[in-house]
Amino acid sequence: MSEIELRNVGKSYGNVPVLSDISLEMGDGEFVVLVGPSGCGKSTLLRMIAGLEDISAGEIRIGGKVVNDMRAKERDIAMVFQSYALYPHMKVAENMSFSLKLAGAPKPEIRARVENAAQILGLEKLLDRYPRELSGGQRQRVAMGRAIVRDPRAFLFDEPLSNLDAKLRVKMRSEIKKLHQRLGKTTVYVTHDQTEAMTMADKIVVLNGGKIEQFGPPLELYNDPANVFVAGFIGTPEINLLHVETHGGHGITSDGISLPLPKAMPQGSQITYGIRPQHIRLGNQGVDAVVTLVEPTGEDQEIVVKVGAQDIHIIVQGGPLVSVGARVKLEIDANKVLLFDRASGARVR
Ligand code: ADP
Repeated sequence: MSEIELRNVGKSYGNVPVLSDISLEMGDGEFVVLVGPSGCGKSTLLRMIAGLEDISAGEIRIGGKVVNDMRAKERDIAMVFQSYALYPHMKVAENMSFSLKLAGAPKPEIRARVENAAQILGLEKLLDRYPRELSGGQRQRVAMGRAIVRDPRAFLFDEPLSNLDAKLRVKMRSEIKKLHQRLGKTTVYVTHDQTEAMTMADKIVVLNGGKIEQFGPPLELYNDPANVFVAGFIGTPEINLLHVETHGGHGITSDGISLPLPKAMPQGSQITYGIRPQHIRLGNQGVDAVVTLVEPTGEDQEIVVKVGAQDIHIIVQGGPLVSVGARVKLEIDANKVLLFDRASGARVR
């Protein structure tokens, strides 16, 4: 049985639809990441699961029970917000124990649960401090501590790392992941950052304009995207996308350049041709190109070349540095090429 299940869920504000026909099944203990561009409806969907927003259509089930009309605090799930939402006049220990106190839990039990959560999160020495006396990362940990003490059946995270600097974000990412492995609770996590989604998720939901584009494990979305939107959203640097028309087993760009196809295609098809920067090599034969930018990133170089009028990004591992202006030949791994119908964006398999 799925732990959290959405069936044809929709949401409108007045006459404006912001989510439509969302159906998803999240398994018990799964870490599911909702990802998509700003305004696509991620937070709204999370808040509907939490019970902080009404549902305009469809059904949400948690642990098999329909919760459409159940209030947030009856749903037995805990939410961690981007803003942390800590009480500024309460010390860390009080912030963490507040919900248990409200629920009338006995004092010794409250103390034991707070100590346990503090130990898991490394907050033991900070219990007597006020939120203003903590760093951003420590505040984030207290917000998580407050969720853990309640021992809920699921955790919801709304862009919890957005207010942290890049280095701390990477550290907290792995802390949240470890916490999930330790507690094994179903988790729904919202981010606009595809790298965060790729590194943390068991399964990713890609949302766009209030609709699900694809739902699956990270590598499935990367290797086997359902459409051009998912291909473009998942993966860094972004996949190269070119318009081609098919002729005699090749894709021909508007500049008349011939690119290898992964399979035979009907003559004259209008195709969006996708090739990831990692799947092109500089070789002795192949597509003619001119180097316009070289960025060494340590082990790798990110190179931009012009093929006709089009910029193509390439990741080259190791090797001698090429210089700007050099004429090179691109070997495209045809088996890795992804084709999309130009009009609909749907994958052509
Ligand atoms: P995301 O989290 O993906 O950035 P949101 O879920 O916050 O997106 O918002 C989805 C859409 O719903 C946006 O177009 C936003 O403007 C709209 N929206 C969100 N909250 C409200 C509201 N209370 N009233 C009207 N429109 C809203």
